[in-house]
Amino acid sequence: MGTIIAVDIGGTHLRAALYEPENTQPIIHKRIRTNTGEPGVYGRMEALIESIWPKKGNVTAIGVASPGPLDPYTGYILKTPNIKEWQNFPLGPNLSKHFNVPAFVDNDANLAALGEWKFGVGKGHHHLLYLTLSTGVGGGVITDDRLLQGYHGLGAELGHTIVDPNGPLCSCGFAGHLESFSSGPAVVKYVVEELQAGASSSLKLENDLSARVVADAATHGDALAISAYKRAGEYLGIAVTNFLVAFDPSIVVFGGGVSQVGPLLFDAFKASLQKRIFHPRYLENLKIEMAALGDDAGLLGALALAQISI
Ligand SMILES: [Zn+2]
Repeated sequence: MGTIIAVDIGGTHLRAALYEPENTQPIIHKRIRTNTGEPGVYGRMEALIESIWPKKGNVTAIGVASPGPLDPYTGYILKTPNIKEWQNFPLGPNLSKHFNVPAFVDNDANLAALGEWKFGVGKGHHHLLYLTLSTGVGGGVITDDRLLQGYHGLGAELGHTIVDPNGPLCSCGFAGHLESFSSGPAVVKYVVEELQAGASSSLKLENDLSARVVADAATHGDALAISAYKRAGEYLGIAVTNFLVAFDPSIVVFGGGVSQVGPLLFDAFKASLQKRIFHPRYLENLKIEMAALGDDAGLLGALALAQISI
């Protein structure tokens, strides 16, 4: 087997790295700004890959972690809110044609799940559930050592599962999805609405409110800020109760900035889960862990994807 090139298309950075077989430390790694708002993202990506292409030896495959929704079977990006020029865009086929190697594409949350399973905190587990809590909520599922993709390749869009049909609007436009309760913007939105309704808090509407600012206020004892995270944890527990019943994992892995707040979120999450799970056996030996791969989750997931696909 030759080398593998992994690419991670992030909101801020485009990253590419060249890996030898059986080594998760790249030979070379480069990143440039994605500039998602400007045209030419694909051209910049091609140039970035060319810049790390090995002078000697061959490349076996390219793996790409991309924002979705996308079709992992064809490598087409259906449309992605961040990169408007990519509408039904043949990302995988274009790369494969240009570089003359197989190119595999999957969404960033699925690949973070795959990366954690192969190289990270999920190593040795055969049934893994991954959730990233960030600007949005993304999910990935490994079942029987395989990444769950689904018929259309749209499986495991766990942020868009309904936890309250009468709940707030999600970024996708539908009501009551997990993302509309447990993402960073959802925490902030709840605080803003409570302040507008006259709730007392050290936080003020004129402040530059972010999930981080709300977390800081909560650690200083602010009741509204605490309740915002409790609510996010409560609904996260409802969602994960459903996921346990569906997938019965041995480990649940949390990534993303919102998951960094610790007990503020997870005490309420665990209480909600324990209260709701219909059979205690789901929780026996169930590990709940923080993601281990950090910023490299996309690249290592793309590496894992290429390795399992060739
Ligand atoms: Zn949604």
